[in-house]
Amino acid sequence: MAKKVLVSGGAGYIGSHVTVELISAGYDVVVADNLSNCDMTCFDGVKKITGRDDIPFYQIDCCDYDAVDTLFTEHKIDAVIHFAAFKAVGESVAKPIKYYRNNLVSFLNILEVSKNHGGCNVLFSSSATVYGEAEVLPVTEQTPRLPATSPYGNTKQMCEDILRDVVKATASSSEEIRGIALRYFNPIGAHPSALIGELPRGVPNNLVPFITQTAIGKRECLSIFGNDYPTEDGTCLRDYIDVVDLAKAHVAAVTRMLGGKMKENYEIFNIGTGRPVSVYELVTAFEKVNGLKLNYKFVDRRPGDVTAIWADTTLANEELGWKAERSVEETLASAWAWERNL
Ligand code: UDP
Repeated sequence: MAKKVLVSGGAGYIGSHVTVELISAGYDVVVADNLSNCDMTCFDGVKKITGRDDIPFYQIDCCDYDAVDTLFTEHKIDAVIHFAAFKAVGESVAKPIKYYRNNLVSFLNILEVSKNHGGCNVLFSSSATVYGEAEVLPVTEQTPRLPATSPYGNTKQMCEDILRDVVKATASSSEEIRGIALRYFNPIGAHPSALIGELPRGVPNNLVPFITQTAIGKRECLSIFGNDYPTEDGTCLRDYIDVVDLAKAHVAAVTRMLGGKMKENYEIFNIGTGRPVSVYELVTAFEKVNGLKLNYKFVDRRPGDVTAIWADTTLANEELGWKAERSVEETLASAWAWERNL
């Protein structure tokens, strides 16, 4: 029988891409989402892409313990991929209680319910933000985490630690939790079908949705934050990972857990391409691949941005047997196709 994976936050940007890849790899998927930061657009897209009209959908908030418990009673869950969290860095600085309550309580509930239902495999969506402004690049999983500069970043660090501690406390028991934290670099792009993609509410915080919205005329001008960084062209360096590649890393990680292939009960993997790309390079590549001119200007640095971060992906390549495949050009073309489709 197919193994069953719960995707919390499965109607969102990354969650919807992961749901598609899990289903095409033969997993049964249950989606839970409170729709606080998305509508049903992407979930409808998932149904179209997979041709599956029967994916169980629970409109629940993972902060509601009883609702999560009911879901686990109705389905025998073999693994959970936990995305359900708030993710706006700036908002987290203004509203720390909202972020701590939501991001911590929902994850604690997932873990406690998993434990009480006889243990589970739990994959946590972490972030390269845990590395901060690293001294040595690229960063490996051993690179020390630096103190978080926002409540959002802090919830990522705290949830990693919570998972590590719960894994340790439940080891070899009838309630064993095995955990993997995937540290994402900068996820961008959309599914090649253009049926699912990033759907920011209001003004986008992230670079690529701002680029596509500017190109389509929804925004007047892209502000490039800072051209006086100590990099070749003065703009920041990031590791932009295609969202479909990223989704495939989740399938590899879940398969590793369910196949009993983990070397430790708690593991961490960097999920990136290993290639640094500057903001200016990304903008230029977008213009070139899509044959258009983007309206942009250089403005002051954005507070809190690090100069450069990119991944050493050796561990994920070797242990997960996974590697990013799509080029930045293909990814930027997919982001543009998605924006036009909207
Ligand atoms: N950026 C920019 N203009 C924008 C949004 C982002 O120049 O409107 C830059 C930002 O300074 C950073 C990079 O794009 O160097 C990626 O930012 P994003 O918010 O997408 O991800 P982050 O790396 O902050 O998680």
